[in-house]
Amino acid sequence: MNIHLIRNATLIFKYADKKFLIDPFLSEKGAMPPFPNTANQHLSNPTVGLSTSINEIIDVDAVIVTHLHPDHFDEKAKDHLPKEITIFAQNQEDAEVIKEEGFQNVVSLEKESSFANVTLSRTDGKHGEGKILKQTGKVSGIVFSHPQEKTLYVAGDTLFNEDVQDAIEKHQPEVIVVNAGAAQFLEGGPITMTKENVVETSQEAPEATIIAVHMESLNHCLLTRDELKQFIKEKDLLNKVLIPDDGQTLSF
Ligand SMILES: [Zn+2]
Repeated sequence: MNIHLIRNATLIFKYADKKFLIDPFLSEKGAMPPFPNTANQHLSNPTVGLSTSINEIIDVDAVIVTHLHPDHFDEKAKDHLPKEITIFAQNQEDAEVIKEEGFQNVVSLEKESSFANVTLSRTDGKHGEGKILKQTGKVSGIVFSHPQEKTLYVAGDTLFNEDVQDAIEKHQPEVIVVNAGAAQFLEGGPITMTKENVVETSQEAPEATIIAVHMESLNHCLLTRDELKQFIKEKDLLNKVLIPDDGQTLSF
């Protein structure tokens, strides 16, 4: 498989000869205001531009939207994606919202779905802890499997918790993509993985390669790649946790 990080949580997977686009967030640099009630109100979102042309990004076989926050499925993506492309949503509710945008082939991910010969299994997640979950809402991850490929688990916008532990135990992934950045509002704690969470994920799946994304593209993501890298180094996990740059492709 190839894993191409576009920016934030937007990724293209070439998996079993199919191309999947995850969480398309295609806005130009600075096109959106900062998230309200967060630090860095002087920064507009996204804080960096796209690493790849939109035409190249949307040239895929299917799209997966892990949840509907604007840094995972934005107006620009709705404008540019072909209306007939297959889009997997985390549940019926999200699928209905996406259909209302005019998309004709929207599929609600069941516990286990498939696309061509790739098995797609939905996993749970929690986009924060405690009271803030009411605001952040339902999120999911996804596991890709195929006899000729390594099993790939994309955790989505979740902290490290029992949902991630369950997914690792059930699917035994060899490659795990986590959304780091320690995104947060002024109150309520982190809503995406902290540096400690990334290490916990690696410790939970010691044989797996962890790929940390969702950094340095939004005003409220406070964990930088350098800070995460330093922490990973201190924990002696540099060979287990990879931190790709925007535009970088990793092969497994
Ligand atoms: Zn996010």
